[in-house]
Amino acid sequence: MYLIKGTRIGIKAGYCLLGLHIYYSDMIIYGWNSKNIKQAELDAYQCPKCGEKKSVLAIFAHYLHIFWIPLFPFKKSAKIVCAHCQLDTEEKTLPDEMKVTIRQLKSKVSHPKSLFSGLIVIFIAVAFFSFRSVQNANLEQSYVENPQVGDVYIIKGPDETSEYNHFLFKINEIEEDSIWVSFSSYTYNGLVDKLDSRDGFYDIMYSMHKGVLVEFQESGELKKVLRDYTASAGFDRVIEYTEPDTSAIE
Ligand SMILES: [Zn+2]
Repeated sequence: MYLIKGTRIGIKAGYCLLGLHIYYSDMIIYGWNSKNIKQAELDAYQCPKCGEKKSVLAIFAHYLHIFWIPLFPFKKSAKIVCAHCQLDTEEKTLPDEMKVTIRQLKSKVSHPKSLFSGLIVIFIAVAFFSFRSVQNANLEQSYVENPQVGDVYIIKGPDETSEYNHFLFKINEIEEDSIWVSFSSYTYNGLVDKLDSRDGFYDIMYSMHKGVLVEFQESGELKKVLRDYTASAGFDRVIEYTEPDTSAIE
């Protein structure tokens, strides 16, 4: 049973359909709704219309929802419906002494756990993603400390004038404390897990000390290490390095 009532908040665009307040904010559908959480017979209240003393008290929980999943309840409301003439009386229009009784009754009714489902889902999701990011950080640490041939590093370079400031290098050989790497021919504007189809790693190699990998990590320039990737990532493509043509400049 849903109560057709609500106040608009945080509107970008929206409409009211059967009392369900639904709003679209980019792609998030949210709104609020209410649910009858308690009904009780009441014989202490005299109907102002027909004078009968038999009525029903209904208590509602109002809650926010995202994609129709209840997020959390934010208030309770009550109304009295006369069992004889069906007159519907909102809590705020009741006499003061009745308001006190209703307030006490409302405080005794607790919100059903189902109205917190959204919060529980969010909590589980946050726990899952933070666990996974800790796992990924540990994995990256072990990659940096024990490099393997084939590892691909994504580094964000210091160039702040261009958004294409991410470059990649691949470890081709390891000799004791030295590693031989080759660079990608393209730079990227963020993290990638595959190369552009025209890109590949140059056929010339540079040597660096293994410790440089840790330095890249500590400076924050290292954004990602890729290992155990598939052939579709394009990391096996080799590009022939040609000296830049400077003859036109002269
Ligand atoms: Zn009545």
